Amino acid sequence: MHPVVNQLIQLEELILIRNEQKVMNGEAHLDKLNDAIKGMTAKLPRDIREHAEKLNNKQQSAIVPIGEQVCSGCGMILPISLVQAVRLAREVHSCPNCARMLYFVESAAKRIASKRRRTGRQKGGIARFSSPSLMIPKLSSTSVEDVISEMASKLESEGFVEGSDKLVEASLQREAIVSTAVGHGLAVPHVRGVEGGGLTLAVGLSSKGIQWDSDQEQLTQIVVFIVIPTAASAFYLKLLAGLAETFSDADARKEILAEKGADGLWKALGKLTRKTVK
Ligand SMILES: [Zn+2]
Repeated sequence: MHPVVNQLIQLEELILIRNEQKVMNGEAHLDKLNDAIKGMTAKLPRDIREHAEKLNNKQQSAIVPIGEQVCSGCGMILPISLVQAVRLAREVHSCPNCARMLYFVESAAKRIASKRRRTGRQKGGIARFSSPSLMIPKLSSTSVEDVISEMASKLESEGFVEGSDKLVEASLQREAIVSTAVGHGLAVPHVRGVEGGGLTLAVGLSSKGIQWDSDQEQLTQIVVFIVIPTAASAFYLKLLAGLAETFSDADARKEILAEKGADGLWKALGKLTRKTVK
């Protein structure tokens, strides 16, 4: 990959994570992220830096992936010659329509749209994004890595994704930048940029609690693992904000943690997120 493209992707990742932190838990880690963003921006060649800043100032991504010959920033179908040039990555190319810079990526994992099974009856809240089969009322794992692996395996065994090992790897890379434990015993490990399908999440509970990061005040008892396709990359911030809002309420946490079965957990989650996740 072209080194500047690589830098731009890392920078974009940091900006996205800063947005996630802002919606989930306010000021935590923001200084660290701001410093990292500043440092990385300063390293870009001047013309690229100015181009990136112009896009960022409009709240747009400076660089976006090409998905199935389409610019994922604006949705325009790109000429095959441009897709090839972006794939070769000898220089930095931009979308002729929206000016966002482009990169080519082999997908990290695949959502299987056709195998999705959802109950159509329950409306609102997280119901659109999950299924009773993705509820884990009693996580058997006790470490961050094992919990993420357990939840990714669940998504795979229930037929929602393939390549769960890649999901685990991508999710742990995200945790390594800034932990997704957001206070109140909630953690939201997630993977962005998954190919195809819709946003999907699994929920796991741990009555003992998990030490998610070293400086958390409260052990993590509620884990929401989210798989986010590129197409849902604008919506998922609202979902994160809604989940953080729901579980900032002590009564809601108590209600969820009292559930011992998958169906009860599913119903309680639907009810508790109806107003916060729309
Ligand atoms: Zn575009």
